Amino acid sequence: MRRIRAALTEAPGAPFTIRDADLEDPRPHEVLVRMTAVGVCHTDLGMRDAWPRHLTPMVFGHEGAGLVEAVGPEVTGLSPGDHVCLTFASCGTCEQCAANHPAYCHAAQALNFSGGREDGTTALSLDGTRLHAGFFGQSSFATHAVVHERGVVKVPSDLPAAIAAPLGCGGQTGAGTVLNRLRPEPGSSLVVLGAGGVGLSALMAALAVGCDPVVAVDPVASRRALAVDLGAEAALAPGDGMVASLRDLTGGGAHHVVETTGRPEMARRAVGALRPRGELALLGLGGEVTFDVMGLLAKGVRVHGVIEGDSDPGRFVPELIGLHRRGLFPIDRLVSTFPFEEIEAAVAAMRDGSVVKPVLTFT
Ligand SMILES: [Zn+2]
Ligand SMILES: [Zn+2]
Repeated sequence: MRRIRAALTEAPGAPFTIRDADLEDPRPHEVLVRMTAVGVCHTDLGMRDAWPRHLTPMVFGHEGAGLVEAVGPEVTGLSPGDHVCLTFASCGTCEQCAANHPAYCHAAQALNFSGGREDGTTALSLDGTRLHAGFFGQSSFATHAVVHERGVVKVPSDLPAAIAAPLGCGGQTGAGTVLNRLRPEPGSSLVVLGAGGVGLSALMAALAVGCDPVVAVDPVASRRALAVDLGAEAALAPGDGMVASLRDLTGGGAHHVVETTGRPEMARRAVGALRPRGELALLGLGGEVTFDVMGLLAKGVRVHGVIEGDSDPGRFVPELIGLHRRGLFPIDRLVSTFPFEEIEAAVAAMRDGSVVKPVLTFT
């Protein structure tokens, strides 16, 4: 047992408050990680607002990076002192895990969103009272976390933690959608709706594999400017002429559209921006979308639902680090750091669009 600091959510939608807490030692297949950085993702905020009251107080956070401090006796391949990034939890044995698609693990709900381990326990408490944790198997808005070994990916010791952190969710979600699922041909066109951390990660991956043109859509001017700076052919505001402009820019419609905003009207308009037999990847969480079926079938549109970029993190995170090192995945361009204590300032900066990917750092 050790004393740690954690950002608690005491009630659904309540702001984060940093408090002391007690963290258990790792179980046989678990790893104790001292956090050096953690990204803030829109899913933390959406889940904080929608989280059931009976699972509070809760610790969110799911883009942790840090150093291994201790390992359980059954852990293989990780040792104290290893630099790691944390990612989502999966069981490792179900049909989807066995096929290297752990984002669709049969136990995903229990392992990531139940407020604890699959058996209902949690490693965190406060003055003897249980705290809910295990968010994406990690709850990394904290100085330390106990994480199942499957959710821990070793990274090079010279990779800055603020770059490692967002790879475990936002980076692999955007880039994985392109590289694992859509697998576009070089020279094919790709449109990204929403130029946040996920959208721009998709954009960088599309450019890395030679998509041309790559176009971004976002209401925030600074994000459009960043998209162009990263190599987008153009970046548009989601105004009235959006679909027509996208069709013009892509020579009659895009081969691929990656929808990251979760806004139903954007998903609907995406179909209009596709060329015949184009592919639409839906990543944004929530909502219901109504499509004109005739429009879909006459065009032969293929729709993908993609979570976590359909990534197998143990294989894919190192691939992203390799792209980063070759200058093809400059995710550092999206990151702004904040001290852990300023988590609410980081949230505000992400919400108002002034920061793409806030990453909290620990001293
Ligand atoms: Zn599984
Ligand atoms: Zn996320």
